[in-house]
Amino acid sequence: RLAAEADSVAVIGLGRFGSALALELMASDTDVLGIDTSEELVQGMNGRLTHVVRADSTQEETLRELSIPDFERVVVAIGSDLEASILTASLLLEFGVPQVWAKAVSDQHGAILRRLGVHNVVYPEKDMGRRIAHRVRGNLQDFVELGDDFAAVRTRPPADLVGRTVAEARTRDSRGVTITAIKRPDGGWHHCTTDSVIGPDDLLLVTGPTRKAERFASGR
Ligand code: ADP
Repeated sequence: RLAAEADSVAVIGLGRFGSALALELMASDTDVLGIDTSEELVQGMNGRLTHVVRADSTQEETLRELSIPDFERVVVAIGSDLEASILTASLLLEFGVPQVWAKAVSDQHGAILRRLGVHNVVYPEKDMGRRIAHRVRGNLQDFVELGDDFAAVRTRPPADLVGRTVAEARTRDSRGVTITAIKRPDGGWHHCTTDSVIGPDDLLLVTGPTRKAERFASGR
């Protein structure tokens, strides 16, 4: 049993997605109970998560024995076995787990999970594909769509802004985006002021409407 289930996260399915998620939670100081039917995966994660158990999450009794009904947050990271994903999610909802997250591998899969009442349905491959498309397309190093046509991008400065201060660059008026933070080649990120001078080797964190943020990064 985990000491405080309320603060912990249970991750069901320790494939590529589930294990990466579980390890990242551990790295940010969150206790994780990992569950998978595969002995090999369970052994591989042993000692790297707070608890790792070999179990079948479609068995109600098994989930009860693992005190899954006491968890506040459970992630169903089963993709390829649709039946197991749906059965597991419906058990968690029946237990009344307040925050059920589930990965969907297709739109249909996602639609079923949402109809069941899963609180957060995520599409890791679709989302990552879309995110990387913006990196391939523009000169930008990272792209996060914040929703409602607003995005944050990490990019090198367009050539015509190098040597100017943020105030002189007047990006909000001319390009509809805001330079939020700057990373110097020899330092970490810091919030910029209107007096910050944009250097050729700096990285900029720019926010604004998606198209405009993208256009800024591509120097157009
Ligand atoms: P990924 O693409 O992230 O690797 P997969 O869908 O291939 O995702 O992996 C899902 C994981 O879920 C596998 O490791 C599999 O053993 C596990 N899994 C599938 N069904 C169950 C189940 N009923 N109970 C627990 N784990 C399961």
